[in-house]
Amino acid sequence: MDPNIFRKLTYGLFIISSTMDGRLNGQVANTAFQITADPAMVAIGINKNNLTHQFIKSSGVFTISILPQSVPLDLIGHFGFKSGRDMDKFATVPFQLGETGAPYLLENSIGYLEAQVVDKMDAETHTVFLGKVINSAVFSEEEPITYAYYHLLKRGGAKAAGPAQQPVAEKKADAPVADPGTQKYQCSVCGYVYDPALGDPDSGIAPGTAFKDLPDDWVCPVCGVSKDEFEPAV
Ligand code: FE
Repeated sequence: MDPNIFRKLTYGLFIISSTMDGRLNGQVANTAFQITADPAMVAIGINKNNLTHQFIKSSGVFTISILPQSVPLDLIGHFGFKSGRDMDKFATVPFQLGETGAPYLLENSIGYLEAQVVDKMDAETHTVFLGKVINSAVFSEEEPITYAYYHLLKRGGAKAAGPAQQPVAEKKADAPVADPGTQKYQCSVCGYVYDPALGDPDSGIAPGTAFKDLPDDWVCPVCGVSKDEFEPAV
């Protein structure tokens, strides 16, 4: 088996949300598909370890918020690299409750689908939930982000050349280049690449700031880990 073939599959990027006993939670996922048109049904794949899995299994409802190309990386970090067991992810994000009580995003979303689970299938680490769509809306005509485009963003901008979905592990082993001022550093947790040429303007870091000159309290803009978790990138 050649695992690289899995990188040739194309995906979108979504926030999948649900509710349980009045609590709300959501997570980033790249697996959401329309299965049928009439009735409209969608399928999602959710890791069994995730709180959202517990919520969907319990309540039998979920929403899919579709992210735009302009989605801020920190929103993906908020929903993708933090756990609802430690925080209320919706406390700081504008949302609306659907008819089922499951929330969907009102900002950084080009629309949503709300579904009721009609069946599910065990997939070892994950569960595939099949949902009948009961509500949906389009908020904007902006391009939806693809999983490949997201990987380009993480690597220092969509204009970057090269393969879109190289695994993080492949990039770790190489030794740093000589110039510490322009050396890029990669987050070992989420794969985000800090490029000194770009800085991190959203966090007040000007372009041209070397990694070593970042303040000690600077954190990965995607997943929130500290500088210690970064390694020199190729
Ligand atoms: Fe990170």
